[in-house]
Amino acid sequence: MVSQHLQENLCRLWQRIERSCQRVGRQLQEVKLLAASKSRTPQEVEELRKLGQRLFGENRVQEAKAKIPLCSSDLEWHMIGHLQRNKVRHAVQIFDMVHSVDSVALAEELNRQSLLQGKHLRVLVQVNVSGESTKHGLTPESARALLERSNEWKHLEFCGLMTMAPYCEDPERARPWFRMLRQLRDTWQKELGLLLPELSMGMSGDLEPAVEEGATIVRVGTALFGPRVHADTDVGNNF
Ligand SMILES: *Cc1c(COP(=O)(O)O)cnc(C)c1O
Repeated sequence: MVSQHLQENLCRLWQRIERSCQRVGRQLQEVKLLAASKSRTPQEVEELRKLGQRLFGENRVQEAKAKIPLCSSDLEWHMIGHLQRNKVRHAVQIFDMVHSVDSVALAEELNRQSLLQGKHLRVLVQVNVSGESTKHGLTPESARALLERSNEWKHLEFCGLMTMAPYCEDPERARPWFRMLRQLRDTWQKELGLLLPELSMGMSGDLEPAVEEGATIVRVGTALFGPRVHADTDVGNNF
């Protein structure tokens, strides 16, 4: 049985994404919807799968390690939370992409484990564009420095950038941060000669400005599943 509210939420989300695309002349196919499934059950994941959703994101390796084997094997799983170096081995085993590369040491460890496991891992560099101290992610300067070295890590494919805007009631306040991420991407592509097609930005509350500013992956939890029950799985507290 497919739950009614998931179906309605999914439908409403795609309408929001579509309207944002229309406002700026983008194609709907340019945007991927990632279901942020932290604190959600495998049953909820499977219900979304029945509705066509294939891309899911988790914040904690432990939780993902328990959950992913209980779900259908045709799903794509991305790590979107802060990744500790001692969890990298498991992360490389279970994830198709890591959005949260936020240090040279983490890139080196991800590359080392990918080599050991004979894997090719897609990654994004997490940039803290707002400078908010509660957010993970590199300063723009450090992110650029990391990308300059990205060729050293042969088992990683650097696909783009990720950011989280500071929380605000008014989603328009997030727009400048999304625009900044896209501009950094455009600049670095040119200056460093890299291909960085992916911009992972925008969540339940601010996906419109994100899509309008060029997001290719929006990460949505509450607008899809409803409010989270556990306070400790809130955004930003995922250590
Ligand atoms: C939980 C989470 C999201 C989704 O947040 P919602 O506000 O529930 O849509 C997006 N990105 C990250 C990194 C998250 O941890």
